[in-house]
Amino acid sequence: MRPSSFSETLASHGLKLRRAKTDSLQVNVGRLCNLSCRHCHMEAGPGRTEVMRRRTMDEVITLARRFPFASVDITGGAPELNPDIAYLVSELGPLAPQRIFRTNLLAMEGRDDLLDLLAEGGWSIGASLPAVNAGQVEAIRGVGVFQKSLDMLHKLNARGFGRGEGLSLHLVSNPAGAFLPPSQEAIGRAFQLALGGQDIRFDSLLSFANAPLGRFRQWLAHTGNLAPYMALLRERFNPDVVCGLMCRSILSVAWDGRLYDCDFNLAARLPARRPVHVRDLALPKEGAFIATSDYCFSCTAGAGFT
Ligand code: SF4
Repeated sequence: MRPSSFSETLASHGLKLRRAKTDSLQVNVGRLCNLSCRHCHMEAGPGRTEVMRRRTMDEVITLARRFPFASVDITGGAPELNPDIAYLVSELGPLAPQRIFRTNLLAMEGRDDLLDLLAEGGWSIGASLPAVNAGQVEAIRGVGVFQKSLDMLHKLNARGFGRGEGLSLHLVSNPAGAFLPPSQEAIGRAFQLALGGQDIRFDSLLSFANAPLGRFRQWLAHTGNLAPYMALLRERFNPDVVCGLMCRSILSVAWDGRLYDCDFNLAARLPARRPVHVRDLALPKEGAFIATSDYCFSCTAGAGFT
């Protein structure tokens, strides 16, 4: 029997996924990255050429001026590698009370200029660190990466991030394989214990299931794990997290200015219905349809991805 689609599963619980008020803007500045992580849903890497240009950044800034957002969030790829990233940080930062800059930590090496801008602008750092076990991290990211990640966390602490002095440092971890993360509480304790022992401080740890997209989906298929992983996600469907899903309130802008309901839809190139481009200078209407696919089950498994 064909497994039920995400929208059929929602319907079986009497639910519909529709947009609420759009209050967050996520800007994906490109697929270029210094790493080629095994679980990357964006398939980012050193050979990627998709990079947001200054003209599109200006359109993003115009949108953020027209519709004040509660939060702006810069992601990639490795945003540090975008040649105009300092411009975007400087111009977008003052337009929203909450500002998040995502980094894989290693790409921040040698970017003291950018760190200064982020600190002066009161940006929060969202740093991905898959695990606190060197072997697991290096299986995903490459040899030598773990210690360099710790070195950058020390540097961020020294620059004032994660020290409880107003500059936040949030860590994001993902499981290394075809399974769901342990409870947020358990993994938070493990990170506190391991990193605290290295004198590293951070504000919070968020752990999410990997979306079966991009390189992670290819790995699942290659290792025979795709069907069992999808079955696990379906089995752990949690209807209680649907109302808090990020696609209800976020607008995701790709490097080419096209709009999506979330970063996963962006990775899959599953566009928002309306508006379709940042230069349309419009936000999705409340109650509008949200495009979904089978990878949406990773957002609703267990504690969810909100
Ligand atoms: S993948 Fe995107 S559209 Fe699907 S449930 Fe998650 S946030 Fe919503």
